[in-house]
Amino acid sequence: MRKYFIAGNWKMHKTASEAVALASELVKELKDGPHKYMIAPSFTALDAVSKVVKGTNILLGAQNMSTDEQGAHTGEVSVLQLKDLGVQVVILGHSERRHTYKEDDAMINKKVKLALSHGLEVILCVGELLEEREAGKAEKVCEEQTRKGLAGVSADDLKKVTIAYEPVWAIGTGKTATPEDADAIHKFTRGIIADMYGKAAADAMVIQYGGSMKADNAQALLAKENIDGGLIGGAALKADTFKPIALCK
Ligand code: PEP
Repeated sequence: MRKYFIAGNWKMHKTASEAVALASELVKELKDGPHKYMIAPSFTALDAVSKVVKGTNILLGAQNMSTDEQGAHTGEVSVLQLKDLGVQVVILGHSERRHTYKEDDAMINKKVKLALSHGLEVILCVGELLEEREAGKAEKVCEEQTRKGLAGVSADDLKKVTIAYEPVWAIGTGKTATPEDADAIHKFTRGIIADMYGKAAADAMVIQYGGSMKADNAQALLAKENIDGGLIGGAALKADTFKPIALCK
């Protein structure tokens, strides 16, 4: 049985004190929650939020990390620095990183392997652009991003990987994939994992949906067989909007 994994990506929102306030509220609200939880504040708030979530049922996530452990990489943040702050999970390959900051599959794969080699969990985001969906290429794009993102990852390390299917056209737009369309891609992606690692690994793989997930559509999405949680942006920025998703049955 896969456990739902509900994760909040706070993107470039909230000062450290605002992040602490929200994290403190969530610690109280979700303390008896039945699912796995993570929040990913900005780098600047990680240290402060780390102290709030330490020892709770909410994991600390980062939104990105460098391809390198250390060195002359102005403006980057390394896996060693994240671990030092108590980060347990890192989101990699988010569509904003892929499309705005031009991260390619090779770069994302390097980050995935580096994070895993340091014991971090990884949320690997995959998803197609609107024009790719309209051209009938959604599966092809997700397959390529999954295979390339996981290239060289051992079966053992795969246990620390969550895949987030995030159709780019649904992120922050208010448009959500229908539960049926999302489930179809999740099922297809699970098939790719089965092909790469075998059925048991595919059955165990948690695949989150992301893209305008909100209280009013979460239940229908999560009811689908292959949707095992959510990576949530906008609705994760307030306890009032995150809590109903996080406590969804
Ligand atoms: C995201 O950025 O991962 C995301 C899913 O955002 P939103 O929920 O705002 O669409």
